[in-house]
Amino acid sequence: MKCDVLTLFPGIVQAAVYESILGRATETGLVQVNVLDLRDFAVDKHNTADDYPYGGGSGMVMKPGPVFDAVDAIKSCGEPVKVFLMSPQGVVFDHRKALELSRETRRLVFICGRYEGVDERVREALVDEEISIGDFVLSGGELAAAVIIEASARLIPGVLGADESAEKDSFYDGLLDYPHYTRPAVYRDMAVPDVLTSGNHERIRLWRRKQALAATFRKRPDLLNEIELSPEDKKLLEEVESEMWGTS
Ligand code: SAH
Repeated sequence: MKCDVLTLFPGIVQAAVYESILGRATETGLVQVNVLDLRDFAVDKHNTADDYPYGGGSGMVMKPGPVFDAVDAIKSCGEPVKVFLMSPQGVVFDHRKALELSRETRRLVFICGRYEGVDERVREALVDEEISIGDFVLSGGELAAAVIIEASARLIPGVLGADESAEKDSFYDGLLDYPHYTRPAVYRDMAVPDVLTSGNHERIRLWRRKQALAATFRKRPDLLNEIELSPEDKKLLEEVESEMWGTS
C-alpha cells in the first residue's frame, strides 16, 4: 500500500504512522507513507496555504493552489493515483472500505483539510472520493487519515505478525471478537472461565465462537443479518438466545 498524505501539520501524521505496527510495516516496505507539507507548495514568501473566505464569515479556507500543485507533483511520477478528501461529508469508513484500500494497487492520496475546509474547486476537480471517519467534526483531517491508513494497512498480509492476525478481530468474519483473558487466573475474586484453562482445544474453539456470536447478538445484532451462519453457528446462537431469555 502506497500513500501520500497532504497536510499543513505533517508532525501529526508522522507521529501516528511511523510508530508501532505501522512503523514496522513502513520499514519492511509493505506500507509506504509519504507525508507532504502543503506549505512547501505555497508560492508566496510566507508560505501561505490558507486565506479568507469569499462571501465573508469567520474562519479560513485552504487555498486551492498548494493542493493542486502537490497532487500534480505526485501524478507526475506516472503511477495511477486515487485521490481522497478527508471530510465529514464523505462516505463513512468501515471494515469493508479498509479491506478495499488494503488491496488497492493505485497510489492513495489523502488530502487533509483544516480550518473551514478546502476550497471547493479541489473537491470538484481533483478528488475521486470524499471519505469520513464518522458523523462528527474534527479540527483537521490528519487523525482521520492516520485512522484509515492504520486500519487498512493491518489487513495487508504480513503487516501483522503471525500471532496478531487480523482474521480473528471484530468485523473480519462479520462478527465481533470473543472476550480475551490473561494471567492471573483469579483476579479480585473474578475467575477466568474454566474452559479456557481446560486445555481442550475443541471446547475452547466452540466457547469462543459462541462468545463471538453472543457479543454480536447483544451489542451489534444488525451485523448478524449480513452474514451467512453455518449450522454450528445457528445452533450456538440458539443456545445464546435461550440462555439470554432464561429458557433452555
Ligand atoms: N466546515 C467543514 C468541516 C471542516 S473541519 C464541514 O462542516 O463540512 C476541518 C477538516 O477536518 C475538514 O476539511 C476535514 O479534512 C477534516 N475532518 C473533520 N471531520 C472529519 C471527519 N469526520 N472525517 C474525516 N475528516 C474530517
